[in-house]
Amino acid sequence: MKRYSVFAVAREALRHHLGWDRAWADPAPKPRYDAIIVGAGGHGLATAYYLGRNHGIRNVAILEKGWLGGGNTGRNTTIIRSNYLQDPSAAIYEKSRSLYETLSQDLNFNVMFSPRGVMMLAQTQHEIRGYKRTAQANALQGVDTEYIGPERVKELCPIIQIGGPRYPVLGALWQARGGTARHDAVAWGYARACSDMGMDIIQQCEVTGVTQADGRVTGVATTRGDIACDKLGIVVAGHSGVLAQMAGFRLPIESLCLQALVSEPIKPCMDVVVMANTVHGYMSQSDKGEMVIGGGTDGFNNYTQRGSFHHIEETVRALVETFPMISRLKMLRQWGGIVDMTGDRSPIISKTPLGGCFVNCGWGTGGFKAIPGSGWAMAELMAKGEPGPLAAAFGMDRFRAGRFIDESVAAGVAH
Ligand SMILES: Cc1cc2nc3c(=O)[nH]c(=O)nc-3n(C[C@H](O)[C@H](O)[C@H](O)COP(=O)(O)OP(=O)(O)OC[C@H]3O[C@@H](n4cnc5c(N)ncnc54)[C@H](O)[C@@H]3O)c2cc1C
Repeated sequence: MKRYSVFAVAREALRHHLGWDRAWADPAPKPRYDAIIVGAGGHGLATAYYLGRNHGIRNVAILEKGWLGGGNTGRNTTIIRSNYLQDPSAAIYEKSRSLYETLSQDLNFNVMFSPRGVMMLAQTQHEIRGYKRTAQANALQGVDTEYIGPERVKELCPIIQIGGPRYPVLGALWQARGGTARHDAVAWGYARACSDMGMDIIQQCEVTGVTQADGRVTGVATTRGDIACDKLGIVVAGHSGVLAQMAGFRLPIESLCLQALVSEPIKPCMDVVVMANTVHGYMSQSDKGEMVIGGGTDGFNNYTQRGSFHHIEETVRALVETFPMISRLKMLRQWGGIVDMTGDRSPIISKTPLGGCFVNCGWGTGGFKAIPGSGWAMAELMAKGEPGPLAAAFGMDRFRAGRFIDESVAAGVAH
């Protein structure tokens, strides 16, 4: 595949853009692969990419029931940070954040990583204590964060009202190298690199069954026929429980709809990402000028990828005290994605009771930021059959053993 470069753009400009290759191929499924990944979201595509790049396994298919990146990867609000409390979480999220720094160069695809800084507002005494503790944990983990006071918050984000009547801004946990990236571009960049390595990305191909013999996976049944494989990676976010049932085991996962909305585009007014956990909302400004606004999950399990009116009302009501200027904005679009929540709000990257079958899920409301690190760790697990250091703590046996990795504070509304 031809490399994208400034010279390629100039050359194509002169010949009416007729010489570009397709970004990825559209092959028919082969009868057999060394490894099959179910789910062409960011995590599935990144797993395939690092299987090829780090472990030389390239006879790989990525099966997607819809279109690639059409799940949560293309629906999220793109916040990237690594300021988690527990050591295993900080390690995998920081690995991921650092891979994001050079992802555009690695993939030869501009993922528009923008390390503009992320702040999590402290609006109660409890949050001050929690975030100071996280800042100190992060210092020990080598993650660059700091606790800042309200004046610095106002300096970094002038549109914040720090003296709100009910929930004044008392400080914030600040990660200067956190930020955002373009979600579709992350999926597209990995897809293009996978296709370039000879892997097959097969869209409109729903996995409907998992075939097995003598306790090992032998392949999958799909809407485009049966396909055999030696190894199977289940990376389907909100549908993890459904796939696990096909493979014959249960996962401690609940599927919930998480919603977001964007406003009409306005002039640049905010060049950081702000999360307000107490009032339950967060906001950043997209490159187009829209205010990207997110809130919490629905209070009940469901598979509906849609928005609802009460969420707009609740989320905007929550944010308007801290950002009075948004009361004058018109909201443009709203949507939902099905997130996969574990009880301790940490992911599962694990072997399963079925030999050769591995699962990567439970990223819940905060897995976009984890895509490169998660793919790296899952590829290592699938290639070697055992988890490496990044994935070791995230086995599904932790729920039986009671070894929870509690991130409910770091991962509440804070994506
Ligand atoms: C509104 C919203 C805001 C969010 N904001 C953030 C944020 O700011 N920062 C952050 O870090 N994270 C955020 N997240 C979470 C993040 O989007 C997810 O954790 C992450 O994208 C999960 O990626 P994935 O690749 O695992 O899943 P997905 O992108 O959902 O991919 C899974 C794929 O599997 C496919 N699939 C399912 N079943 C089958 C089947 N049977 N056969 C074949 N394919 C199948 C689906 O079609 C889907 O494309 C947000 C999520 C939502 C919904």
